[in-house]
Amino acid sequence: MRRERSEWRTPSKDLYPQQEPQTYNLSVPAIQSPELRRALAERIRYYHELGIYDFYRRESESAPEIQPTLQPEQREEMSPRKSAAVAKLPYETTLEMRAPHPEQSVSDPAAALRLIREDLGDCTRCKLHQQGRKQIVFGVGNPHAELMFVGEGPGADEDMQGEPFVGRAGQLLNNMIKAMGIRREDVYIANVVKCRPPANRTPERDECETCSPFLMRQIAAIKPKVIVALGAVSAKNLLAINAPMSELRGRFYDFMPAGARSNDPVWQGAKLAVTYHPAFLLRDPRQKGEAWKDLQMVMKYLGLTQPKPTV
Ligand code: URA
Repeated sequence: MRRERSEWRTPSKDLYPQQEPQTYNLSVPAIQSPELRRALAERIRYYHELGIYDFYRRESESAPEIQPTLQPEQREEMSPRKSAAVAKLPYETTLEMRAPHPEQSVSDPAAALRLIREDLGDCTRCKLHQQGRKQIVFGVGNPHAELMFVGEGPGADEDMQGEPFVGRAGQLLNNMIKAMGIRREDVYIANVVKCRPPANRTPERDECETCSPFLMRQIAAIKPKVIVALGAVSAKNLLAINAPMSELRGRFYDFMPAGARSNDPVWQGAKLAVTYHPAFLLRDPRQKGEAWKDLQMVMKYLGLTQPKPTV
């Protein structure tokens, strides 16, 4: 019998033993000019969209800019999203303030996701909205999921159906999830960019930077135990590390989404694992064994056991 190319065969045991409008509290006596206040609010909104929330008034009177404290080799490896977090801010914007996103005041993840979706609206923030997308593909699954998968961006099938991973790569992802002993409905699935890039090209840096704050907010709302980054685009955007897949896979990273509360009493972040994108596995099925190793690492952490084969 001819096997479907998207079929996931668990590699053998011998091989692998087991919006509301945001309000900004600009309570700074020095800022009297309405124009400056408006410009400042706009600048802060821009930083918030990048996932940057905390600004501090400088101690020193004369200090004109924020200096990054990172070592050069760290800066080398940072993506622009991360570098934006240390971009020079005009002195006027270095104020002590924090305006939470609307979903941060709700504890129910489903309600939080709805607020994020509302905030995203009929998004025109990047050029993808003009490049043939049919609809925004926000994300799907259990808002209380312990496990979240993050892909790159919707393809043609996803664009048509409004749901991530429903095409051939999605069929393979479903089989991978099933092999882990869970169902697609148990996990949450999203992408770095929510609109289909034309001709399924790789999403560009500015598109990822514009869209990833929404992914960060989805992650912060769901508070998963584990995130699996599917492929290099997802991994590099989530981790802000520019490294080849061979170096990114095979370990857990401690992950806290940009902008999430670091003092949250119920969630101190997720473990993040990187594996191959299912579309890559369709092209090179020999790598499925490697991907299975990654999934087994996740299963072990989550206490999942492989389902018994049915006769
Ligand atoms: N590839 C992705 O990265 N995401 C999808 O939703 C579908 C294919």
